[in-house]
Amino acid sequence: MNDCIFCKIIKGDIPSKKYYEDELMIVIADIDPKAKLHYLAIPKKHYKLLSEMSADDAVDLGKCMKKISEIAPTLGLENGYRLIINQGDDAIQTVPHLHIHILGGQKLVLRDFRTDV
Ligand code: 5GP
Ligand code: ZN
Repeated sequence: MNDCIFCKIIKGDIPSKKYYEDELMIVIADIDPKAKLHYLAIPKKHYKLLSEMSADDAVDLGKCMKKISEIAPTLGLENGYRLIINQGDDAIQTVPHLHIHILGGQKLVLRDFRTDV
């Protein structure tokens, strides 16, 4: 996708420090961290929603999740972490290229969103 910021980062058109890269995904630090450690695991294939995945995409995403578990200790996440995939408007997905937030480096209380507007 020409105007996708994550595709540009994957291609190297926008420079970034890649904490991990293989044929399926990259892992970078989030530019606007929401936890002491905040990474983004970005599958290299461009699609926005889980509902758009082909069967092969689903297999690849499973491999990405397994790889995240394997590299977590190298990212300072040996004590645990939280994965988040924002999907669509209610989740306030801002980048239309599927990505997995990896949060950690601290205790992460699951807060109550019900009083939010
Ligand atoms: P979303 O809201 O779509 O789930 O998450 C998008 C995330 O991408 C946000 O946390 C935002 O801070 C991050 N982000 C947006 N642009 C860039 C960028 O150019 N570089 C990096 N490293 N992160 C970005
Ligand atoms: Zn993209």
